[in-house]
Amino acid sequence: MNKGPEVARGKTKILYQHPDQPDAVIVSSQDSITAGDGAKRNVITGKGRLAALTTARIFRLLNACGLPTHYLSGGEDEDDNEMIVRRCEMIPIEVVVRGVAAGSYLKRHPAVKEGAVFAPRLVEYFFKDDARHDPQYSAEQIIAEDLATPAELGEMTDVALLVFEILAHAWKQQNVLLIDLKVEFGRHKTADGESQILLADVIDNDSWRIWPGGDPKRMLDKQIYRNMGTPKDNELGVVKEKYEEVAERVAQFQKSVGGFVTIIMGSSADAAHAERIGKALSGFGIPSTKHVASAHKTPMYALTRVHQTDSAMGRVVYITIAGRSNALSAFVDAATPNPVIACPVIGSNWAGMEILSSLQLPSGVASLVVLEPENAALAAAKILGVDDTVLFGRVLVAQYRSRKNVIESDARMATAPPNGKAGA
Ligand code: C5P
Repeated sequence: MNKGPEVARGKTKILYQHPDQPDAVIVSSQDSITAGDGAKRNVITGKGRLAALTTARIFRLLNACGLPTHYLSGGEDEDDNEMIVRRCEMIPIEVVVRGVAAGSYLKRHPAVKEGAVFAPRLVEYFFKDDARHDPQYSAEQIIAEDLATPAELGEMTDVALLVFEILAHAWKQQNVLLIDLKVEFGRHKTADGESQILLADVIDNDSWRIWPGGDPKRMLDKQIYRNMGTPKDNELGVVKEKYEEVAERVAQFQKSVGGFVTIIMGSSADAAHAERIGKALSGFGIPSTKHVASAHKTPMYALTRVHQTDSAMGRVVYITIAGRSNALSAFVDAATPNPVIACPVIGSNWAGMEILSSLQLPSGVASLVVLEPENAALAAAKILGVDDTVLFGRVLVAQYRSRKNVIESDARMATAPPNGKAGA
């Protein structure tokens, strides 16, 4: 790739200005591997390509989940060790998320045993300074030293936790336990001059600890290299094999099992409800189809629809909509092994008593009830996300945005003048 002048250099990568895009830089991953703040250093031919491949695959997954990262393109071809990323002013803090105790945590807390589980996850910050061996910093220190504002640090912490959960989910699909993870952030100037916190740097096999089957003896990550004294060539070969295996495994992270939702409504009068569900599903990137079929009036036709849906490729969740007496949801549920979410339309006549027809079901029938159309879509996304990391990540990000909304509303209330005339 054509490159402009060198912008910065780290232990395992070099950054160049993009030749045509002033807002972009090229990250070139190198073949070096280091440990002990650079005290031990080796070269593994092809490691740069594997690092770029791994990072590109991870950042593409995170972007697909709706998390903003600096990654734009590149790094994905087998002979490519370069990625194009958004230009960022890097914040010199390593944010480490730990799910299981290992590494430097054990040295700092000798009473804790390797493998102890952190619930909730533990977040730690380290100031990037090789000469001082990356000292641990508290949030207060980071803010007092103007390394990040409280809002920026809050965002970095929240996003680091989201990244951990998304990657932990992806690894879990392969029966691998994500132990800990290090990420870094930068400030990116958006087109309208705003400063935006972006997940930046790289996430590769140097950035985490991963234990297949939860067994540290089977580790696949850079710790293997850290644990070696002065590595012999054949030992470096073993390290390279692990990096190759990880790059290949990471290629599976974005695989989708092709889930979809079939919405069956009892009458075209329920179309507005179905529309809201379809829209919310699109927000998660879940395809849906809508049908009208009544359990009371067209039972055979409704059954045919279910049989057709069940024989399609991919995994299906049904959302059934009916007003008044809801026979449809239980009827569909009894006919399919796939999950059925009832999203009945509750009218104002009869004081909403029709809800009982969705709740009181015969034995062996298990349609679930979610009343708000958008929540029914969320429930379907959660079900389909059980083994689809992109969907799982989108649900996590939606939950994060919803929490953020509440907290921002609180901040607005707290700053409103006592006479309540804010914005009047
Ligand atoms: O060494 P420590 O236990 O603090 O590392 C926590 C996590 O951060 C590990 O996954 C490690 O690979 C990663 N890390 C890193 N770069 C560093 C220090 C740690 O990627 N400079």
